[in-house]
Amino acid sequence: MKILVLGSGAGGGFPQWNCQCRQCAAFRSGRIAAPPRTQSSVAVSADGLSWVLVNASPDISQQIRDNPALHPRGGPRDTPIKAVVLTDSQLENVAGLLSLRESAGLEVYTTPIVFEDLTADLPLLGVLESYCAVRWHMLPVAGAARGAEFEIAGFADLAFCAVAVPGATPPHARQRGEVVGGSIALQIEDRRNGQRFFYSPALAAVGEPELEWLRGADCVMVDGTFWHEHELSEAGLSPLTASQLGHLPQRGHDGRAGMLDVLSKVAAPRKILTAVNNSNPILDEQGSQRRALAAHGIEVAHDGMVIEL
Ligand SMILES: [Zn+2]
Repeated sequence: MKILVLGSGAGGGFPQWNCQCRQCAAFRSGRIAAPPRTQSSVAVSADGLSWVLVNASPDISQQIRDNPALHPRGGPRDTPIKAVVLTDSQLENVAGLLSLRESAGLEVYTTPIVFEDLTADLPLLGVLESYCAVRWHMLPVAGAARGAEFEIAGFADLAFCAVAVPGATPPHARQRGEVVGGSIALQIEDRRNGQRFFYSPALAAVGEPELEWLRGADCVMVDGTFWHEHELSEAGLSPLTASQLGHLPQRGHDGRAGMLDVLSKVAAPRKILTAVNNSNPILDEQGSQRRALAAHGIEVAHDGMVIEL
């Protein structure tokens, strides 16, 4: 299977339009070795021709423009994007749906709680239906059902599985806090060679169930939002901590393991961080934090990265 990283930044991307943190400022004055990043999203394909989009970032139009694999090829109106799977209803993962309104029809895969949110508190799907056909496919992850295998028409070589992961519902959602199905990770297995990709761009914590999924993958691409718990407050950007925003930072704190500790227990040949916030020092390719990642065998995703499994 092919995985195309469309965006590797967190909400706001890098540099963020209104941010003057050390790194965003350094980017604008050319003083940092760090490529720009759009907001996180990947596209997955079995044949390189038809693609499943995982999340629709607000940067989707630019991401499609930047990736020829996603350009139209057939009739006067065409797209190789055949389906969209949403891992939650955070704005940075769903707002791009509105930019797909010219579509002939959208096949959208979400859990019930995300569907509810996108038809009530943030009614994107209802709005879109005024422009194009929207077909909802339910991923039955809710209540006691923490995982669901599913198929996507036209992708017979790929086996999909949605898994509930710890995470907070978005600020606009009526149901706040932790809800099963509010945030999911995806495991995608190529049936031809058994290779497994595990994608979880937002991961608030890693317990035994999550660790098992990570250990079962050949390539893991996980939450790389923050380097440490108090990163935002120390930079004067926000009083909120990484935990309060639903992200496990790379560095451990207060006796709690960080993502680096977690990934050291995972033997996958590829371990990749994505959805990196503009405040995170791992953006600096020449920084000490980046060297620490390399020493742990951990990569950082970049826009346009291609992975073949
Ligand atoms: Zn910044």
